[in-house]
Amino acid sequence: MSLKLDGKKLSLEIEEKLKNYIFDNKEMAKRNPSLAVIRIGEDPASGIYVNNKEKACSRVGIKSFIFHLKNTVEQTEIEKLINKLNLDNDIDGMLLQLPIPKKFDEQSLISCINPDKDVDGLNEQNIGKLVKNEPAMRSCTPAGIVNLLRSQNITIEGKKIVVIGRSLLVGKPLSLMLLNLNGTVTMTHSKTINLNNICKEADILIAAAGKPNLIDSTYVKEGAVIIDVGIHRLTSPDKTKTKLCGDVLLEDVIPKVFAYTPVPGGVGPMTVTMLLVNTIFSWQKQFGLSSTLNDLLP
Ligand code: NAP
Repeated sequence: MSLKLDGKKLSLEIEEKLKNYIFDNKEMAKRNPSLAVIRIGEDPASGIYVNNKEKACSRVGIKSFIFHLKNTVEQTEIEKLINKLNLDNDIDGMLLQLPIPKKFDEQSLISCINPDKDVDGLNEQNIGKLVKNEPAMRSCTPAGIVNLLRSQNITIEGKKIVVIGRSLLVGKPLSLMLLNLNGTVTMTHSKTINLNNICKEADILIAAAGKPNLIDSTYVKEGAVIIDVGIHRLTSPDKTKTKLCGDVLLEDVIPKVFAYTPVPGGVGPMTVTMLLVNTIFSWQKQFGLSSTLNDLLP
């Protein structure tokens, strides 16, 4: 039987460790860790994500501050807010909930975030440190995937790993993390020729294309590990029901693989957990606390 890489279970286990870490260290720091979340506009999915992050923070003892700005705000006003939070010693982590409305320059706003508070790990300085394999904030979804693999002692070193997708959010940082861990990594994208043949070579196949059910069993080597990053809500033809699915046609692939991530309950919960880890990482650095959680940041 194939092994389910249960992100929900692992994220609860890590949260327990984080809760204990905060409890043990808050006296020395004289305050709990804190996270500022900036949301712009009314995208309903962003509202749900921000809500989930707020709840996760409160479960482990991180204080969260939500700044919900109107779509009509000016870019300079957002920059001012980011700069204010950059200078605020009571804020350890900060993130801009993506996507933001198209009229704003997303990358330039991310560049304004103090790299030491950039809990999404998307600032150039943190990406640069990842390229150099130096410790820093790591982007949450890729770091969550590495922790999922490690939790089941799935070997990365020497393995052939194919990543489908090259986004700044997932594909690129994930490929770099796996390369730093001595995987032999192939990064693929929408212009890749013979994707099927390349995927079939993979010991570990990671689908982050954002295309529902793109990967069926013909893409997968017998005994491979398959990680599904995609998340999509599909509506039934008669429009009465909706269902979540990933980039992988799981029911077709599961009988062939050694291990897989479910959707939902695989990669998604780990992304939120890594946000908590990054926030605590920043708090730990600021107050010179013990670094017992550092092995969670690949
Ligand atoms: P993205 O920015 O749209 O990037 C998608 C990447 O996949 C691009 O590099 C694209 O290639 C490539 N691609 C698209 N179609 C392809 C195809 N047919 N064959 C091969 N490559 C293809 O998306 P993203 O932000 O990386 O997210 C990917 C998926 O993960 C989405 O479903 C998103 O919702 C999900 N996600 C989930 C989590 C989570 O926590 N579970 C977190 C983040 C993202 P080009 O570069 O050539 O366009």
